[in-house]
Amino acid sequence: MIERHEGRQQIVCDTCPASFPKTYADADFAIMVADVKAAGWSIRKALPDAAPRDTADLFGKAPSVAGKAQAQPYTHKCPSCASEAIPGRQEGLL
Ligand SMILES: [Zn+2]
Repeated sequence: MIERHEGRQQIVCDTCPASFPKTYADADFAIMVADVKAAGWSIRKALPDAAPRDTADLFGKAPSVAGKAQAQPYTHKCPSCASEAIPGRQEGLL
């Protein structure tokens, strides 16, 4: 998600409390996205109804606790959350 404070914005992981250490002005949104992606973060469009199931298998479906996806059309994951592709499913395999 994106936290906003006093005209600054900061990327925060959707699935854990991690946040990108830098804050950016609203005008620097594109720079912020480029920076966090360069740092290994995953930012991708959630597209609740338009995307059938192309990336859902890779990154897992949105957890049921995040049932309000309309407010945040993008998903944001820190490097560690983005790397463990499907956390919920690994338990199911064991
Ligand atoms: Zn995370």
